[in-house]
Amino acid sequence: MNETILKNKTALITGATAGIGKATALMLAAEGCHIVICGRRKDKLESLIQELAQFEVMVTTLCFDIRNFTETQQAVASLINNNHKIDILINNAGLAAGLSKFYEGEINDWERMIDTNIKGLLYISRLIAPTMIKNGSGHIVNVGSIAAKEVYDNGNVYCGTKHMVDALNLAMRRELAEHNIKVSAVHPGAVETEFSLVRFNGDQSKAKAVYDGFENLLAEDIADGIVYMLTRPNRVNINEMTIMPKAQPVASVIHRNKGL
Ligand code: NAP
Repeated sequence: MNETILKNKTALITGATAGIGKATALMLAAEGCHIVICGRRKDKLESLIQELAQFEVMVTTLCFDIRNFTETQQAVASLINNNHKIDILINNAGLAAGLSKFYEGEINDWERMIDTNIKGLLYISRLIAPTMIKNGSGHIVNVGSIAAKEVYDNGNVYCGTKHMVDALNLAMRRELAEHNIKVSAVHPGAVETEFSLVRFNGDQSKAKAVYDGFENLLAEDIADGIVYMLTRPNRVNINEMTIMPKAQPVASVIHRNKGL
């Protein structure tokens, strides 16, 4: 790996208060990359600052709800006003809410997923991409999902939002390549994070059952893939990477209790 590519670069990570975003922040900081961590939970951002203190990098926190364009705009403006140059944008904030037939779906769950996974990703990208164009370089990593590639039972709207991320990943790459900006996506299978707890509205036993009987991915496995994509030689762009647990060959099949 060529991690030195990351030294003294600055990465803005959305959804850094938990799971994949947090693991990515820690892994990038270990490679000497300055970090801008984002999320709504101030206490989680503050405790991540403590964890990141072991690395000799600058850490900036931005506490905002990515569904709100005005809040997102103010957060990005505060960076630009302080002369921050964002080299890397990790579009990671996202969620699944509920798991049901679409004809029984909760409208509020749909709004949350569409507003966060699609509109939030678009808002921050719309604000950061022009600064990368001005700088003549940059790398955007979109965190999609296996749900961007397949549709699984009862995952209708979540899968739809992630298919949109897949389409946006392609569109961004087409439009940004001429500006010397790389665009990549990582599509994970089942990773044990707060994801299922959020999906099942805080129900611990339902969330735990998702990961029962097989070796799920860890957030670090996805962070590792992201670091790989970010550290390729300048001439190389990894368009996308799908990372699955060994026991999950496709989205809707998980081999449980087989010691895989
Ligand atoms: P997680 O542990 O629940 O983390 C989600 C992050 O997104 C949190 O930091 C959360 O921060 C942030 N977020 C959610 N809504 C937000 C909002 N409105 N404004 C700002 N930040 C918001 O889940 P994760 O598994 O790490 O998920 C990260 C990404 O991976 C998501 O896009 C998810 O769809 C994708 N993914 C996950 C899996 C999986 O199995 N875990 C599989 C495929 C894809 P706050 O709550 O502090 O705002």
